Amino acid sequence: MGARLGAVLWDMDGTLLDSEKLWDLAVRELAREFDREMTDEIRHALIGSSVENSLRIIFTGLDIEPTPAAFDRCAAFLDRRMVELMSGPIPWRPGAKDALALVREAGLSTALVTNTKRAFTEYGLDTLGREYFDVTVCGDEVPRGKPAPDGYLRAAEFVGVAPESCVAVEDSPTGAAAAQAAGCAVIVIPCEIPVPAAPGRTFRESLVGLTIDDLRVALDGL
Ligand SMILES: [Mg+2]
Repeated sequence: MGARLGAVLWDMDGTLLDSEKLWDLAVRELAREFDREMTDEIRHALIGSSVENSLRIIFTGLDIEPTPAAFDRCAAFLDRRMVELMSGPIPWRPGAKDALALVREAGLSTALVTNTKRAFTEYGLDTLGREYFDVTVCGDEVPRGKPAPDGYLRAAEFVGVAPESCVAVEDSPTGAAAAQAAGCAVIVIPCEIPVPAAPGRTFRESLVGLTIDDLRVALDGL
């Protein structure tokens, strides 16, 4: 037996909400704004990335000249479009709603740890329910986004639980890397793209039927 389970740290996009589909729409439209066509390769590289990294990947991948004016136009487009898309009801990932309730009822500490910036995350929280999280940490509130560990470390510190007693739930390679860099165990539920197997990663098809024992077993895998 390893550390005692103290907290569950949830990723948002692609893990709890099917919001990666909304990002997919927005970045494809963005490419067309610049008379380019988004490729699957570039699109996959964006999954789980911070906005700054995403913009860099988009500019390089689509061969857009990275002028400050182009960056501003790009950021403004994504801002406007994502607010429109996230204002509607956002679809849940299968089993996510029950899993959130299960963890809350078990009395474990909980946090939302997302690379998405605060302004967009608030729309996600309208769907998720703020009562399920002791704290929420957004991409624009830490020095470095995922795959850096900053968000996970801050969340663990906020809830007062050592990272090695935390289980993170993630859908992307970027997010899984961030959680592990912080020292957390990870349950991986791939959404849009495959995630490589590695020690400390427990894979599931979905959150349907998740139990507290599953979380403990994931922690024992650290
Ligand atoms: Mg994600």
